[in-house]
Amino acid sequence: MNPAGKRDPLPGWAAQVVRWQARHGRNHLPWQGTPDPYRVWLSEVMLQQTQVATVLDYYARFLQRFPDVHALAAAGIDDVLALWSGLGYYSRARNLHACAVQVVHRHGGTFPRSAAELQSLPGIGRSTAAAIASICFGERVAILDGNVRRVLARALGFGADLAVGANERALWEQATALLPQRDLARAMPRYTQGVMDLGATVCLPRQPACDACPVAGLCVARQQGRAQDYPVRTRRLKRTAQSLWLLWAHTRDGAVWLRQRPTPGVWAGLYSLELFDSEADLVAAVPQHHRASVHALPAFKHVLTHKDLHLHPVRVQLPARTRLAPGGAWHPAAQWPGLGLPAPVRKLLVQG
Ligand code: SF4
Repeated sequence: MNPAGKRDPLPGWAAQVVRWQARHGRNHLPWQGTPDPYRVWLSEVMLQQTQVATVLDYYARFLQRFPDVHALAAAGIDDVLALWSGLGYYSRARNLHACAVQVVHRHGGTFPRSAAELQSLPGIGRSTAAAIASICFGERVAILDGNVRRVLARALGFGADLAVGANERALWEQATALLPQRDLARAMPRYTQGVMDLGATVCLPRQPACDACPVAGLCVARQQGRAQDYPVRTRRLKRTAQSLWLLWAHTRDGAVWLRQRPTPGVWAGLYSLELFDSEADLVAAVPQHHRASVHALPAFKHVLTHKDLHLHPVRVQLPARTRLAPGGAWHPAAQWPGLGLPAPVRKLLVQG
């Protein structure tokens, strides 16, 4: 029995994960080996939808610019979005900033120690809260991000549909029952890191390396020869598509017209070229005597999580005195790196 009075569904699991992590897990990433919740939180948020290789650079730049939660809270949101530019999922950056402000103003600059309290902060969900609390403070709480869900569903042979809330809750319960039961200050950080490492390096979505897996002897899916059948999730998010026309207006000196996007909506809070739903709308926004010189560039696709954006850039040179829309302005190239630009807009401008 574990501390919650639940029977351990896979006896010996936690000890094996902890042992394996110490020897074979990822122990050299820059956010590892530190109990500093600021660093762990920052890495967890960055890793939510982004690969480790991409996060490494951003993490280093972020820490250099904002070495602690006070520095981040004191920054303007535009500075934060500019540093985040290219990582995508910009609501993460907005929540990151809002969370830093709350930690400083409501908690005196110290992160709360329990997962329950951490979860009340902006952008910190149940799994992220558990990662911070277990890694930094040794709390006995389970994470269940996408990778870990796959590892545990396979190991347990958990075949219920995780699109159903009750089944998801049942898997959280099982995940909790599997946690280490003693020496939590030492075991919990390693265990949490270990299940994440298993999902990222061994129990891969398409080709799990079961022969190299430290828990193969316990794994129900392995015994059944059915690793690919787990986890079960029936409800698929429906992808949508949207076409947008981008007005790439520039002056003779190369300054570009940019305006901060409204919230909510596509690229909320970022600085973008003016966006239109149709070419006709775009042309109508160009002063009449310059319409003949608009020049359509090849369209391209930009993929967001649940949406494909079909982007149609249209270029035109305008006099610097032109004002296209309230709130916008001409920005010379020297200012672009300091602005939060959506990745495809930045790419367009840089390619020139
Ligand atoms: Fe995943 Fe295979 Fe290990 Fe089971 S034995 S946890 S399916 S890698």
